[in-house]
Amino acid sequence: MYHPCVKYRVETCVIALPRHRAVPLHVKGGIMKPAAPFWEKKSLQDMTQAEWEALCDGCGRCCLIKLEDEETRTIMMTCVACRYLDSDTCRCRYYEKRREYAPQCLLLTPDTVDNYSWLPETCAYRLISEGKSLPWWHHLVSGDPQSVHDAGISVRHKIISERYVHPSDFDAYITDVFGVPSHTP
Ligand code: SF4
Ligand code: SF4
Repeated sequence: MYHPCVKYRVETCVIALPRHRAVPLHVKGGIMKPAAPFWEKKSLQDMTQAEWEALCDGCGRCCLIKLEDEETRTIMMTCVACRYLDSDTCRCRYYEKRREYAPQCLLLTPDTVDNYSWLPETCAYRLISEGKSLPWWHHLVSGDPQSVHDAGISVRHKIISERYVHPSDFDAYITDVFGVPSHTP
């Protein structure tokens, strides 16, 4: 999708729906000891589909429209959200069929995570790919899907749908409030 003035290329992306935390226990020497959770012992490539889906924190940040300056290649995040993002739940309304509704929606896979430099620093896929820990507010750690909102990480109530913004005005909504500073490769 291209911005009408051809200065900017416009992209959106996302991936997964959070599931609930499951922390298996094992017994050794008679003491119940929690086993390392999957995200601490598996690489992205080794995760099952269910584990991969569960890793998404549901922040909705990757469903914001990004602008790329075609001259400088600088990528900038806006607070304009894809028309299919539910601004309350911060989930895709058509997640299972999103590629039919939005062919420009990029697929995040274990092999493409490192290609998307604009993924927010808080994105769980980026964190795991970089060998970092999940933060306290991630639902797999907190056990509460609400904590991503309570911590102010999600885009809830901070965005405007692209349904209400003309593409020629997208650049008026450029922001770094979502932890994605403008990036030039
Ligand atoms: S930025 Fe990462 S963790 Fe947040 S919704 Fe997108 S894929 Fe999920
Ligand atoms: S189609 Fe769904 S997953 Fe893709 S960018 Fe839009 S809201 Fe996000």
